Amino acid sequence: DSGDGFSGGDSAGERDVQLRPRRLDEMVGQRDVIERLKIAIDAARGRDEPLGHILFDGPPGLGKTTFATVIPAEMGTTVQMANGAGLSAPKDLLPYLTNVSEKSVLFIDEIHRVPKSVEEYLYTAMEDFRIDIVLGEGVNARTLNFELQPFTLIGATTRAGMLSAPLRDRFQIREHLGWYSKDQLRELVQRNARKLTIKIDEAAAGEIAKRSRSTPRLANNRLHWVRDYAQIKAKGDVTLGVARDSLDMIGIDSLGLDKQDRNYLDTLIRVFAGGPSGLEAIAHTMNVSSDTLEDEVEPFLLRSELIVRTRRGRMATAKAFEHLKLPLQP
Ligand code: ADP
Repeated sequence: DSGDGFSGGDSAGERDVQLRPRRLDEMVGQRDVIERLKIAIDAARGRDEPLGHILFDGPPGLGKTTFATVIPAEMGTTVQMANGAGLSAPKDLLPYLTNVSEKSVLFIDEIHRVPKSVEEYLYTAMEDFRIDIVLGEGVNARTLNFELQPFTLIGATTRAGMLSAPLRDRFQIREHLGWYSKDQLRELVQRNARKLTIKIDEAAAGEIAKRSRSTPRLANNRLHWVRDYAQIKAKGDVTLGVARDSLDMIGIDSLGLDKQDRNYLDTLIRVFAGGPSGLEAIAHTMNVSSDTLEDEVEPFLLRSELIVRTRRGRMATAKAFEHLKLPLQP
């Protein structure tokens, strides 16, 4: 998940789909990415060829899966969805590859989790639309060749650095998705409020945007909560006060930090005297995985200048002490 302490399980998934844009023009922000994709899509369609393979990287909740569903819609084709964590052996990949139709899309989320033994099959699949499978061993070994339909692989990863160079280099288009500005998120909140028929004023939309950590998924989650709160506590109207009170109630503060973010800062400051501290030590103390911290908590804390990464470890900044109202260490 996105590291949002308040996401609400399955229903959050359904809500996600409800607000997910269907076409590139319905997407907010990422203008330069969209512009480049449109050119690539139009060119591929003009030549009646599959689109080149595309790799998206960036933190969770910034639109990687959205692009992977919108692009096939723009191409007028279908998409199969897979997850790198589920592709632990070559046989797991086969059903997807043999099901691809001409110019269709295969989306592999968390592609950095595909093991090396499976990755090698992707190389020929991507390059030559072919897979060679070795059956048996030694003198009895036989190779089976499968021809695949020419297709487009879209990969998504939160950790581009973990992809091997041979895999990375087989993507013709590589796009990094960056954080959204407050204005872009406010536009997203206003647009989605209309879709959900929520009455919201501009200041309230701005407040939700400000507390959404530059992340569309969080803006949507927060909007859903604010709507619930407004319905029960404020006759449905979302004003600035309603937005603030409702977000305060679920522990999302003025900077958009949630309980886990504050817990991280609190651990770093109280237990490790503000650092420098290694990531593993912080993760152990908090009893969460270091991957979760590195992918879902630290990027925003770094961006907000609440922590810095030094050669000796993580350090809390003066801004972090101030935000938690803790005295700076002598
Ligand atoms: P990721 O795959 O990067 O984790 P998603 O594509 O699942 O992120 O995005 C999370 C949610 O945020 C989606 O359901 C979608 O509604 C919304 N979203 C993401 N990016 C955009 C965007 N550029 N415009 C509008 N909504 C977006």
